[in-house]
Amino acid sequence: MKQPLGPGEWRNWAGTATATPVRWVQPRNEAEISAAVKDAAAAGLQVRALGSGHSFTAAAATGGLALDLSLWSGITAADTRTGLVTVRSGTTLRALNAALAELGLAMANLGDIDAQTIAGALSTGTHGTGARLGGLATQAEALDLVLADGSQVTCSASTRPELFAAARVGLGALGVVTAVTLRCVPSFTLAADERPMPVEQVIEQFDALAADNDHFEFYWFPYGRQALVKRNNRLPAAGAGSPAGRAPAPMPGWRRFWEFEVMENAAFGTLCRLGRAAPRLIPALNRLSSAALSARSYTDASYRVFVTPRRVHFVESEYAVPRESLAGVLAELRHAVPRLADPVMFPVEVRVAAADDIWLSTAYGRDTAYIAIHQYAGLPYRAYFDLFESVVAGVAGRPHWGKLHSLGAGRLGPLYPRLGDFLRVRAEADPEGRFGNSYLSRIFGPAGSSITDS
Ligand SMILES: Cc1cc2nc3c(=O)[nH]c(=O)nc-3n(C[C@H](O)[C@H](O)[C@H](O)COP(=O)(O)OP(=O)(O)OC[C@H]3O[C@@H](n4cnc5c(N)ncnc54)[C@H](O)[C@@H]3O)c2cc1C
Repeated sequence: MKQPLGPGEWRNWAGTATATPVRWVQPRNEAEISAAVKDAAAAGLQVRALGSGHSFTAAAATGGLALDLSLWSGITAADTRTGLVTVRSGTTLRALNAALAELGLAMANLGDIDAQTIAGALSTGTHGTGARLGGLATQAEALDLVLADGSQVTCSASTRPELFAAARVGLGALGVVTAVTLRCVPSFTLAADERPMPVEQVIEQFDALAADNDHFEFYWFPYGRQALVKRNNRLPAAGAGSPAGRAPAPMPGWRRFWEFEVMENAAFGTLCRLGRAAPRLIPALNRLSSAALSARSYTDASYRVFVTPRRVHFVESEYAVPRESLAGVLAELRHAVPRLADPVMFPVEVRVAAADDIWLSTAYGRDTAYIAIHQYAGLPYRAYFDLFESVVAGVAGRPHWGKLHSLGAGRLGPLYPRLGDFLRVRAEADPEGRFGNSYLSRIFGPAGSSITDS
């Protein structure tokens, strides 16, 4: 959820960004969104659409007009035959997943949580895991936008294709996304298998694990020897080579509560607080968390398997690296992290995605491994995150747009072959930088700039 501090004040979930917009509007329809953008232009204000505030970066922060889209929610059209579903941009993934389930549909892939809005998730390149699947933006077939002049347009691969290529992962820089048309799939069941494995073995078998499972990821506690390997695989639907189908066998409610709320949140949160009070204990607590990893298997509706509650607050950085670079990056981290002055409480998470063709997607043009590092809220993280950035810089790592990083336009240019095209389309759609803020100025250069002046 957005975290209002008081009238007109905004902060993100992690507490890493705050802002005091001079104007805060909650539109209820597209005409109100368009009118708010025109009014802001007349007053010389910049405009940011607010999602759920779950970016760690200041992507949504503004001192101008904050467009709070939380009342702009729900599915407006659905074709269960084609799977095409149009959803208002302020809809949270939680609400979307529930509504899709009622229609017998689902998103083909999802990230770890469901608190984000659909437009916020697309805009920063939010992704889950799966070597044959792309991030959430690859599931978008069309976008409706309000542009800087207040006009309402639709874009897709066939209508305004350049605007579509830019706005699918567009950081809100092209306009306000008012609706997203998604290509959904029939509801499916996932068989989840989670078990500890020695981290060396996971790294050795990484390619096979990624190839052999629909959704593979692992967590590794930096001082521990064990990784928690998660394999989620699709079960055949009833009638598809499995006459009776396979009914989901979800965890009983009490076990779900125990595993996710007690062990992953309450107990882990207690260890984190202990570590924050006595940082010298962190490596031992970390080893304890690693040793306490246990196996579990269950089946459930896809979105109930993908998503887990995250109640322990943390800060995060994540980089996309070419898949073949993963082992080298992890070897450097395993060597360097134990030497940091400030120990690290949270695990490293590794996921995969297929190459895609979205201009600012972190997986643009290359099969990708994602490496996410975290630190418990309130513990020092700067040296760790700097170390991580210096390691991934050596393998052309691309930062997640919604997670902490220090890169600016000069260093991002060589990482994104289509950044010049993105900036050109942005300059055409929004020549005055109406949808700018200080984060966008840092990553793209001043409004209207091209790749050569950054
Ligand atoms: C606990 C936690 C878990 C996470 N897990 C994952 C994960 O598994 N995978 C992953 O990739 N990321 C993950 N993230 C990051 C998160 O998915 C992204 O930062 C996402 O952008 C947050 O969505 P939001 O709705 O909160 O958007 P916000 O953070 O509020 O906004 C993000 C950007 O989108 C823009 N925006 C929002 N709405 C619109 C609109 N209607 N039109 C135009 N622009 C708009 C904003 O202006 C801003 O630039 C996680 C974050 C947290 C805190």
